[in-house]
Order: sequence, then structure tokens, then C-alpha cells
Amino acid sequence: MDALDGNAIAGTLEAVFGKDMTTASGTCANCGMRSMVGELGVYLRAPGIVVRCRRCDNVLMVLVEAHGVTVVDLHGLRTLDPTAWRSQHESQTQLLEERNRHE
Ligand SMILES: [Zn+2]
Repeated sequence: MDALDGNAIAGTLEAVFGKDMTTASGTCANCGMRSMVGELGVYLRAPGIVVRCRRCDNVLMVLVEAHGVTVVDLHGLRTLDPTAWRSQHESQTQLLEERNRHE
């Protein structure tokens, strides 16, 4: 079965994390490879969604929907860093601090 990429589950991830996670970067707990979630290998296999490392095939995320709730196992990830939206938030905070200092 051919792997899709992380963009295939963008909607599912956004429903779980409340943010677009395809631009977040994840680090594989097994081989240490950092990749964008949107570039990871995704297998839409019953009963859930399996996301694997492109390099070592380690299972990074498992998403299973049960009773209307999506259960997420991130055990295979060392880090999951949503840099894109955090840096946006930080620059907004900095702007506000800058403004307060001048008043
Ligand atoms: Zn890996």
C-alpha cells in the first residue's frame, strides 16, 4: 500500500490540535529525523490513521476515531513543534510589548 503524505490528514489534525499542523515539524524518537508533518508518510488503514517516519518507518502517530472522539498516540515522536504558528504568536506578543513600552 502506497503512503500518502501528511497533507492527506490535514483536516483530521486540525480538528485534533485546533491548528494547521502540516507545517509543524516533528522529530522521530527512533532515528532523530526532523520533518514537516505534511511530508510524513501516512497510511489510511483501518481501524485508524498511521503516520510513519520516511527514513526508518517508525510509527510516529496513530489516530483512531472512536465514539466521535479522535484518540491520538504521539509515542513515536520525540518532539512536535508547531513552529509556524508559535513564531507568529511570538511576533505579535513582541509587537504588543514594544507598543506598551512607548506609551
Ligand atoms: Zn525515524
